[in-house]
Amino acid sequence: MMKVDLHCHSNVSDGVLAPAAVAAYARKGGVDVWALTDHDEVKGIGAGRAAAAQQGMRFVAGVEISVTWANETVHVVGLQIDENNAALVQGLAATRNGRDARGREIARQLEQAGIPNAYEGAVKYVGNPDLLSRTHFARYLCEIGMCASTSEVFRKYLTEGKPGYVPHRWATLADAVGWIRGAGGIPVIAHPGRYPFDRTAEGALFDEFIGLGGKTIEVVTGSHTPDQYATYAEIARRYGFMASRGTDFHAPGEARVEFDKLPPLPAGLTPVWHDWF
Ligand code: AMP
Ligand code: MN
Ligand code: MN
Ligand code: MN
Repeated sequence: MMKVDLHCHSNVSDGVLAPAAVAAYARKGGVDVWALTDHDEVKGIGAGRAAAAQQGMRFVAGVEISVTWANETVHVVGLQIDENNAALVQGLAATRNGRDARGREIARQLEQAGIPNAYEGAVKYVGNPDLLSRTHFARYLCEIGMCASTSEVFRKYLTEGKPGYVPHRWATLADAVGWIRGAGGIPVIAHPGRYPFDRTAEGALFDEFIGLGGKTIEVVTGSHTPDQYATYAEIARRYGFMASRGTDFHAPGEARVEFDKLPPLPAGLTPVWHDWF
């Protein structure tokens, strides 16, 4: 069976490998159809496409856009985008804007919590100066021994109510979906199980997404637990959503699930790629 992975990060956002190295790693994990979906940035797509061709994988141009919805951060993946679309490129640039100032404020809070020089420490991990991410702070806090894993960092720092949490306003859902669709792409609600919504708020998110032309959610993702694969398979059936699948790979050994271990989509779902080839 064709192995499809439609959610991955390179060092163009908060992954550690260059796009070509992600392609090679995905191929080693048995991937046949691969999307590069860096946060708020399409600058790796050219290299990703070339590397995929070299590896003998089909390539899907993608992006993962940061959205603020109901005062929470929601991620919307765009698949099969034209990465040169002007409105998309401009919208992503506007969305990236403010990450550096946020990073300085994160560092200021960490300093007050007794962790100095976090800005400089995080920047060492950055591959794209426009894309300073909380993940880079997390890697630095691991480096200096504050925490044993990035997930421990996110439990103790950088999240609501913890030192280093700086609220940030990203794109609107309407803008993100509009940019993706305007660039010929398919919008996908990324890892719906990761948001702090109850079923009512989650339903409102899905309804608004459908109203904007959204038809797809991620079901099997490295950012879901196996229980959530089943939960969101059921929700996809109920709403009539197509289903997407991807590791949400950031770094070897850092993911919950490696490329060769992520299960296929549960039965009875329409894969988002059903009519692509
Ligand atoms: P940012 O866009 O700078 O707010 O960073 C968001 C990124 O942080 C996500 O894309 C994940 O890669 C990472 N992240 C967020 N929450 C967690 C978590 N609980 N554990 C590990 N990584 C996380
Ligand atoms: Mn990330
Ligand atoms: Mn995400
Ligand atoms: Mn992601």
